[in-house]
Amino acid sequence: MSVRAPGPIAGNGERILVVEDEPAFAELIALWLERHGWQPRIAPDGAHALRAVEEDPPDLIVLDLSLPRVDGWHVMERVRSHSLVPIIVVTARGSEADKVRGLATGADDYVTKPLSFPELVARVAAALRRARGGPVANGDAATIDLPGIRIDGQGHRVEVDGLAVHLTPTEYRLLRHLAARPGALVARGELLVAVWGSGYREDHHLLRVAIRNLRAKLAATAPGRRFIETEYGLGYRFAAGGEPGEADGAASDG
Ligand code: CA
Repeated sequence: MSVRAPGPIAGNGERILVVEDEPAFAELIALWLERHGWQPRIAPDGAHALRAVEEDPPDLIVLDLSLPRVDGWHVMERVRSHSLVPIIVVTARGSEADKVRGLATGADDYVTKPLSFPELVARVAAALRRARGGPVANGDAATIDLPGIRIDGQGHRVEVDGLAVHLTPTEYRLLRHLAARPGALVARGELLVAVWGSGYREDHHLLRVAIRNLRAKLAATAPGRRFIETEYGLGYRFAAGGEPGEADGAASDG
């Protein structure tokens, strides 16, 4: 899987916090980011990371999940309790559970070790672009009011049957894009481009994980109803009101 940037990448000096405990590896990441026009700063562990975020908030965080003492999960939870700064987590290759949990905890994206530096650079650029565009990529601030679900485009709040559902910025964008056309099949590539950016069209795995997390959150509020239907191999369809039947959380994620 690779993510390509639409053109040459040239950062605007955005400040990037690299949280990584292996010094040589951290330096290498920093070097790649610097070459592309960003200002990296290294935090060698979770405690330093939390202090750095508080004292001088970065524009983006590259976060290794396995850190000594305060681990990456704890850092992410603490940062997410007060900030929507984009977070890209670095996970061990093949750790599906880490990817699912990472995106559910509030990561915007992930890269797997061993790291492809050009891929990291492309993902950083895409995450910064999304952050500039705000929580909704197309800037749509209208409220979507459907049977059983309400999506407030101003406050980025989601309610199912009047109960708040707490979504990450990425989950919010995903739900919003699906719910904008209830009943219509939305192709995987379209969702990936709309929610993550133009380099992500083929990243079906990322979409599958994010849909799984979104379904689990909706199902926790509305058990036994299914808001997102899978068209296997094609895409997803939003069912206003939630079709009765198998709960979203348990559903196949195609
Ligand atoms: Ca590590």
